[in-house]
Amino acid sequence: MLEVRIGPRPAPGEPLVGEGARTVALALEGERAAYLINAHRRGFGCLRKGPGVLGWPTVTDLPMPTRRPDGPLVDAFGRVARDLRVSVTDRCNLRCTYCMPAEGLPWLPKPEMLTDAELIRLVGVLVGLGVRQVRLTGGEPLLRRSLPDVVAGIAALDPRPTIAMTTNGIGLDRLAAPLAAAGLDRVNVSLDTIDRGEFLALTRRDRLADVERGLQAAAAAGLAPVKVNAVAMRGINDADVADLLQWCMERGYELRFIEQMPLDAGHEWQATSMVTADEVEQRLRERFTLTPVPGRGSAPAERFLIDGGPATVGIIASVSRPFCGDCDRVRLTADGQVRNCLFANSEADLRTPLRSGATDADLAQVIRDEMWRKAPGHGIGTSGFHQPDRPMSAIGG
Ligand code: SAM
Ligand code: SF4
Repeated sequence: MLEVRIGPRPAPGEPLVGEGARTVALALEGERAAYLINAHRRGFGCLRKGPGVLGWPTVTDLPMPTRRPDGPLVDAFGRVARDLRVSVTDRCNLRCTYCMPAEGLPWLPKPEMLTDAELIRLVGVLVGLGVRQVRLTGGEPLLRRSLPDVVAGIAALDPRPTIAMTTNGIGLDRLAAPLAAAGLDRVNVSLDTIDRGEFLALTRRDRLADVERGLQAAAAAGLAPVKVNAVAMRGINDADVADLLQWCMERGYELRFIEQMPLDAGHEWQATSMVTADEVEQRLRERFTLTPVPGRGSAPAERFLIDGGPATVGIIASVSRPFCGDCDRVRLTADGQVRNCLFANSEADLRTPLRSGATDADLAQVIRDEMWRKAPGHGIGTSGFHQPDRPMSAIGG
């Protein structure tokens, strides 16, 4: 294990770590660590987080901790998981090019999917382990017919977690009010463009009007703040990111751009063609003044005030400026596998023990063991990176 300490730039001959230097749980392995150490030895290579400079790194080898503490859901790098993403289905009614192939995917057979009672029980075990926010996702979560019952079951847990959902918005015009009544607190609606042709090119479906209606219904149902998630794709919608921001601002939606990640079912992602967070930021700055909002914590989005605020825009630079060191997420798939990371190449089966009479304590043990194995970082761009077999839609984004 490597400990990385971040401090001010050392003067020649000065000790490399000063009093009060900030220790960050930094996700480093292999090539990235070597790069950092070499950069340090050569006397340069400050670490950046967003537009700010964190400081200059020093790297020390530490023995790996060998004992997993009881208490919160912690990994070997000291990160504590409090934010659970639950995929309630792997099915979807869109075919976004960065996520699914045109022909769809072989969906999970029904018997392999968790029932509502099983899903709520597992969420309860995770809440018992310290989870305080649950985000329902998929696939398209609105395709699960019993979704209001699932929400109500989670809302009845003690302590009650905050309940959010990420959706493509199709069907939200009908479901926003019942979901809010069942206990849903917030919603993120994915919308990459407000141009009908671009929407069709990106999602392979002509459903822009449905998404707009869904957004309006979410706002009317009080699922605030209504957030919009967008992925910029080169040559399709990347030139129009400022239009999308303008449109969201006019309607009171909070927009956040997500860098495209290598999680597409076709394994076609390429670092060289990905639209970077820097590019998005630059395009937005051509029309708006962006002022960084401090205090990001474990949130993936770097936020900016737009033209002095109060409206903000978020940029999630998962690939070019990873935030694995601050990650507080754990994931549960629709077929009952717990995953410690979107990019994990392992997962632990909870469904089999659940159906064979395991106690909550037994299930908690499986979850703790899997979380303890969480890698320090996703490693995209390193030679050891291996895209997970499950695509985004079957993990839950
Ligand atoms: N179907 C719902 C939706 O689209 O909002 C929920 C599931 S979707 C997998 C969750 C989020 O992941 C969406 O905001 C989507 O844009 C994003 N997403 C999907 N594939 C992605 C990829 N390869 N890189 C970055 N974000 C991706
Ligand atoms: Fe479906 Fe969401 Fe994937 Fe698009 S991003 S194909 S809406 S799961």
